[in-house]
Amino acid sequence: MATHQEKKLAEGRKHQNMQNDTKASQGQWGRAWEVDWFSLASVLFLLMFAPLIVYYFIMSCAQYQCSLTDPLLDLLMGNKHLSDIWNSTPVLTYKAAGIYSLWVTFQVVLYVFIPDFCHKFLPGYVGGVQEGAVTPAGVVNKYEINGLQAWIITHVLWFANAACFHFFSPTIMFDNWIPLLWCANILGYAVSTFAMIKGYFFPTNAKDCKFTGNFFYDYMMGIEFNPRIGKWFDFKLFFNGRPGIVAWTLINLSFAAKQQELYGEVTNSMVLVNVLQAIYVVDFFWNEAWYLKTIDICHDHFGWYLGWGDCVWLPYLYTLQGLYLVYHPVQLSTAHAVGVLVLGLLGYYIFRMTNHQKDLFRRTNGKCRIWGKKPEYIECSYVSVDGTKYYSKLMTSGFWGWARHFNYTGDLMGSLAYCLACGFEHVLPYFYIIYMTILLTHRCIRDEHRCSSKYGKEWKRYTTAVPYRLLPGVF
Ligand code: NDP
Repeated sequence: MATHQEKKLAEGRKHQNMQNDTKASQGQWGRAWEVDWFSLASVLFLLMFAPLIVYYFIMSCAQYQCSLTDPLLDLLMGNKHLSDIWNSTPVLTYKAAGIYSLWVTFQVVLYVFIPDFCHKFLPGYVGGVQEGAVTPAGVVNKYEINGLQAWIITHVLWFANAACFHFFSPTIMFDNWIPLLWCANILGYAVSTFAMIKGYFFPTNAKDCKFTGNFFYDYMMGIEFNPRIGKWFDFKLFFNGRPGIVAWTLINLSFAAKQQELYGEVTNSMVLVNVLQAIYVVDFFWNEAWYLKTIDICHDHFGWYLGWGDCVWLPYLYTLQGLYLVYHPVQLSTAHAVGVLVLGLLGYYIFRMTNHQKDLFRRTNGKCRIWGKKPEYIECSYVSVDGTKYYSKLMTSGFWGWARHFNYTGDLMGSLAYCLACGFEHVLPYFYIIYMTILLTHRCIRDEHRCSSKYGKEWKRYTTAVPYRLLPGVF
């Protein structure tokens, strides 16, 4: 009995360190091994239309004051041809290419060459060299966590330039927005294509590659799990975290500066969007080490979905609210502004606390307090292909007792707040909440499919104990 207990404890610890066991779920890990027709159709759809969607949104703002219907009406009624719209679109310029190359190079330098010092003086911050989760091939990658530092340095320089040096205008991003879009696309496609070639010819870890045999699926969803150049340049962490997310807050500042230039003031809606999204971005960097254990890093391979998505989709579509507010400077009533602020902060609180509760619970193997009480949980196990049994726990206390993905609910509340800050005149700023709802609902289903295969009937017990996914009593 004692031996069994010890084995169980040791295995529990082993599980903790190896949050995602090496072989256990290799069959379901990350993306699929075989491609069904629906996945292929979705991949082809996204490959063809995602770049057009981004172009359409940005062009609508530049040429149609952010109306999504006017360009279509113009085309349908024959007022304009596609070529008219295309010919009015700014082209790639040397200036934009220079700005973009400098930007990406600077972020590479900050990422690769400047070891983290923030963790040495910021209490509670986890930075410096950290380990990721175990990959399906059993590799534990080391990462230099220095995103917060990169964000701080970049922003200090940005403010120093805006306040003192005046080397470039703070509106630089807005002023070159479409030429920069072409640069972002070039990098997005280049890095995804390079990742594909690398996966075939010189993978970082051949055992962590997946080939379905379907070119489009492999291109989109990636072949290599953790492509790297050298010891430290990790594609997934770099492209996921920077340059897109560091740029997010700078882009918003550039939009605020443009409002100031055009209208002589910055509206309260613009301030709200800047502040709420900055909280989200800083939270991301503050918790970058934790982020190594999330689905993006633990399960997704690096392909066009992440490469192009991080270079183009994220910086261009996550910042639509700020862009919209340049064209429509909305001044909110006090009640409306306070409502947006409260929703945004409440959403952030739920998002952060839910993630924190799971992190604390898993780190301490359940020996912690959640809302002042010992957490309740369901013991579960899974068996690896070599027959070893591993133990894990699924918490049913705190926010994890309210719904199975309450962290997503908080995220969605925050996302809705950004959109509501833009008023109700146009649908364009609401794209973000629509997209996030689809993304996170799809994630719930994807994650639950994986957990159900992993934990079997114990997952069923968990879903009986916590029957709702996102909204208690509703879904
Ligand atoms: P989670 O952090 O929710 O992780 C899911 C995993 O947690 C499961 O696979 C399971 O892993 C474990 N788990 C599930 N239920 C429990 C439980 N009751 N107790 C303990 N462990 C449990 O998912 P993500 O990685 O997708 O998301 C992380 C955050 O990132 C979220 O807050 C999300 O909102 C945010 N996000 C934001 C995006 C954006 O674009 N803005 C995009 C994607 C995510 P195991 O196998 O270890 O049991």
